[in-house]
Amino acid sequence: MLVRRTLPHRDRRMVGAWCFIDHYGPIDLSITQGMRVPPHPHTGLQTVSWLLEGAIRHTDSVGSHVDVRPGQLNLMTAGRGISHAEDSLAEPAVLHGIQLWVALPEAMRHQLPHFEQHANLPHVKLPGAEVVVFMGALLGVHSPAATYSPIVGAEIRLDPGASVQIPVERDHEYAVLLVDGDARYSNEVIAEHALAYLGSNRDLLHLDTSKGCRMLLLGGEPFEEQIVMWWNFIGRDHDEISRMRDAWQGHHEDFGSVNHAGPRLEAPQLPNTRLTARGRSREK
Ligand code: MN
Repeated sequence: MLVRRTLPHRDRRMVGAWCFIDHYGPIDLSITQGMRVPPHPHTGLQTVSWLLEGAIRHTDSVGSHVDVRPGQLNLMTAGRGISHAEDSLAEPAVLHGIQLWVALPEAMRHQLPHFEQHANLPHVKLPGAEVVVFMGALLGVHSPAATYSPIVGAEIRLDPGASVQIPVERDHEYAVLLVDGDARYSNEVIAEHALAYLGSNRDLLHLDTSKGCRMLLLGGEPFEEQIVMWWNFIGRDHDEISRMRDAWQGHHEDFGSVNHAGPRLEAPQLPNTRLTARGRSREK
């Protein structure tokens, strides 16, 4: 399955608290196997599942067993530890989506795990555009999803020829993931499938398109903590990640169990060198 990972990037590890972006598909499930992710753990983060086409079944260790479809948000707050499995459904025979992670700040990362699904998210219509706010606040509307730092995640659809100005927070940083179609930010072309980092210090984002497009707007308050991201864990130093790995390998009760056929994912070996905590960008 082709996956485009635009975050973390060598020079840009985070945008606000967003720390991981995988864009997959569209995949034709009549000729290709879809998503089959056996039970695996997470710590210190939220997983955000956002679909453009298709459906995914989510099963986790806090008892959730739900399907997510386009326009709905599946949000899993791992806190101190959770495990889950994800499988695409056979129908419809296409899969296209984005998997994102949000880092939890120190004060919130040890919380108990929980899962939420939101089928009724706020929509905003603008001339030539429709915006769905799935995390945080934008354009005067708020997603009901639980967030633990000032953040925004929104899907923006622009009609052919549309041009929009979106008010944003001056002290937050932003990026745009161009999912499909063509788009420009302040008259600069964004490459298809690219994550365009827009930085901060502006009150309006000017986006326009010729043929129409779909994109995600991701942003938030710059995340100043240094973190270690390794495999499916986020911690603060090498030793903590090593303990998380040992806990998963040792079937520690914090990770619970997932009602799912087949074996779970085993953690890879830690590297021979010590993992280093890093900031949100290369220069920091
Ligand atoms: Mn996962």
